[in-house]
Amino acid sequence: MAKLELKDIRKSFGSAEVLKGIDLTVEDGEFVAFVGPSGCGKSTLLRLICGLDEITSGHMAIDGELVNDVPPAKRGIAMVFQSYALYPHMTVAENMGYALRLAGTPKQEIDARVVQAARKLRIDTYLERKPRQLSGGQRQRVAIGRAIVREPRIFLFDEPLSNLDASLRVEMRIEIARMKDTLGTTMVYVTHDQIEAMTLADKIVVLNSGRVEQIGSPLDLYNKPVNRFVAGFIGSPR
Ligand code: ADP
Ligand code: MG
Repeated sequence: MAKLELKDIRKSFGSAEVLKGIDLTVEDGEFVAFVGPSGCGKSTLLRLICGLDEITSGHMAIDGELVNDVPPAKRGIAMVFQSYALYPHMTVAENMGYALRLAGTPKQEIDARVVQAARKLRIDTYLERKPRQLSGGQRQRVAIGRAIVREPRIFLFDEPLSNLDASLRVEMRIEIARMKDTLGTTMVYVTHDQIEAMTLADKIVVLNSGRVEQIGSPLDLYNKPVNRFVAGFIGSPR
């Protein structure tokens, strides 16, 4: 678990500033959802947090340690993407253990962690299957399992359920709620689905054109939206 602090985070691509000064603290063990329209900068912010892309200016700290220049592999962050590219030629177990194998973790420990994560996600009976022998929801669980085995300090999710059909999405939402309860890891979850944000998050960050419009609990945002944009986005009747 870890606390994440962002101070005046800015990001430009060429002359276009897509993040215009983001200030945010995610507490240890907190589940925070980023919501906002397509193109507002949600994925860019996640990529900066995990270090896949460089901050233009600002400060980012994990547990009080400045991580601006810390490489991705040393940040203790795992990211789950919307397109969960599993290796088709590897089994579920091999997919889940791959990052640990690259990191030189002993085989016995990899096997133990994979089995433990697979049990949590209820995919332990599929460990010897190939991805093509799984349903969409099962594949997404493997992608989540791949992140869990790394025992990250922080999980980032970028619209992990948006490629799933409606019933699977409900099932996976329950899965993620369970994961939040059992793991207690700090989580940042990007979604454009208000229901996901309202039901899963301790705190919601509403983004618009690279700025934070409002940060608050789901109830706060619903009952006291600061403007029409937030009201429209969260769906309260103001
Ligand atoms: P969201 O995830 O909220 O839909 P993104 O973070 O993907 O939004 O994108 C925010 C803005 O930044 C968009 O206008 C997008 O076109 C732009 N952008 C994202 N990545 C790049 C990049 N590598 N180069 C140039 N522009 C980019
Ligand atoms: Mg995105």
